[in-house]
Amino acid sequence: MKNPLTRLANNITVIDAHYVQRGIASIYIVAQNKKVTIIETGTAHSVPYMLDALTKLGFTTNDVEYVIPTHIHLDHAGGAGDLLEICPQAKLVIHPRGAAHMIDPAKLEAGTMAVYGEEKYRKLYGTLKPIEEQRVMIAEDGFELDFNGRILRFIDTPGHALHHFCIYDQQSEGIFTGDTFGLAYKVFSTKNSEFIFATTTPVHFDPDAMLSSMDKLLTLNPKYLYLTHFGMIEPTDAVIAQLKQSINAFVKIAQSEKDNSEGRVGRIEQKLMQWLLGQLDKTECDLPLGDRKKMLATDCNLNAQGLDVWLKRLEKQVRKA
Ligand SMILES: [Zn+2]
Repeated sequence: MKNPLTRLANNITVIDAHYVQRGIASIYIVAQNKKVTIIETGTAHSVPYMLDALTKLGFTTNDVEYVIPTHIHLDHAGGAGDLLEICPQAKLVIHPRGAAHMIDPAKLEAGTMAVYGEEKYRKLYGTLKPIEEQRVMIAEDGFELDFNGRILRFIDTPGHALHHFCIYDQQSEGIFTGDTFGLAYKVFSTKNSEFIFATTTPVHFDPDAMLSSMDKLLTLNPKYLYLTHFGMIEPTDAVIAQLKQSINAFVKIAQSEKDNSEGRVGRIEQKLMQWLLGQLDKTECDLPLGDRKKMLATDCNLNAQGLDVWLKRLEKQVRKA
């Protein structure tokens, strides 16, 4: 099985969830005193890669103590039910707003289907397995999990999703950021720079909350950010500035489409693509244009849908006022 493991310092290993294509979504395996915590699960289709990685690292499914999706979007939590089923000792640790959906995934399934369409949904995610309530641990803001002497602290981070937390790992002084700290695909990074931009996936995008969640994380002075999309980066000033710039740019693009007529998502999507391609042109990335577009297409579509939902929410508030 082609399933390379990237070993980072502090007993953290990254594997590819094989979501849509290689290099899109990571799963982290944190080892401590012969036990394992899995952060992010990928989808149900990612589970065989996880089993292969555990074997290569010398673990069995009995060694898995915690499975921790940063939020319940299915590229992060879709495989949780399957993983819990095959890891008999494992507990799921989840944001308070996500727990009910992991126990009974019917609404989550319907909501995700609304975003992707049924055909694509089935192909990407298969069927979600429910998780028994007694195996679910809820992590409120500030909760500290003692994972065999390794403290993992949970930080409520709305902005991308209301059911999103990030996890500060005291040992590595790094943060598992989920989608709060944007997307930085390795195909776009060069020797000197990362290419990073925000994810505004439906339905909870809130730019102010996203910026304050980022600042909340940065007050911890992390040495590393473990992004789900994709892999570890360092939070340099350039990276932070670039990410904040993307949030502002996306908000401006959305605000330029206040006319809520047919086809708004498509118009926003095109503008996002143009903006991102323009930003990429300023870097030394040598990926051909067709490949750039292919890599960005899904995020432009999801971001456009999320920005449209955000605009509609604002429009509703204006009408109410
Ligand atoms: Zn997400």
